[in-house]
Amino acid sequence: MSDDVITIDGPAASGKSTVAKRVADELDLIHIDSGSLYRAITWQALRNGIVAAQATISHDFLDAMQVSTDLKGNSITFLVDGTDPGLDLRSQSVAAAVSDVAAVPDVRRKVTECLRQAAQSRRAVVEGRDIGSVVFPNARFKFYLDATADERARRRHAESTVPSSGVQEVLHALQTRDRKDSTRSASPLTIPSGAVVIDTTTLSIDSVVDTILSSVSDDAGKAEKEEIR
Ligand code: C5P
Repeated sequence: MSDDVITIDGPAASGKSTVAKRVADELDLIHIDSGSLYRAITWQALRNGIVAAQATISHDFLDAMQVSTDLKGNSITFLVDGTDPGLDLRSQSVAAAVSDVAAVPDVRRKVTECLRQAAQSRRAVVEGRDIGSVVFPNARFKFYLDATADERARRRHAESTVPSSGVQEVLHALQTRDRKDSTRSASPLTIPSGAVVIDTTTLSIDSVVDTILSSVSDDAGKAEKEEIR
């Protein structure tokens, strides 16, 4: 398992995706969004008429599902049974069901295996909810981004393409997802041990990216000095 990854965990709309992509660009690493794989599996389950209640995702269904990857720019895209779900990953039906699907232990095992494989051949920035705690517990660099629920709802609402949902509606959906992600028994959202916690509520994307880059380069500098000694 590659421990030479940068992990970025945190709740929905904490800034993970934008920051992870920027850090990967700056360091010329690949970017892996683990949430997109949970969403892709959810999309495929819904297409197959599987209701998102935990018990209905069978071992056989998961076993038969082929997950492959494609590199677009520096980001990994996950294909399910040969198809890229594209913008459907962001649909309301997928968003509403994904936390239930992600709570199924067999789903988590499959995703964990795919993520470890995807990060095997090249150094990566991997973002999600359990990346520093479960997928890469020995990662050299771990970060946890957070922000108040109100600020996260404001951000999600501002980037939303669904005109009918107001900020309060977005806040409610976000809090429901946070609760499910933090209270499930299989690898819940948590601050990984050894992670640098960054509260992004009042910070710009640039300053979060800078904090992460300096933390990575400080550590690399220290390691170099130790090697010379
Ligand atoms: O990050 P994103 O909002 O796309 O993640 C969608 C959902 O996937 C999360 O709400 C969570 O239920 C699940 N997820 C997870 N573990 C991860 C990444 C995402 O459980 N590492």
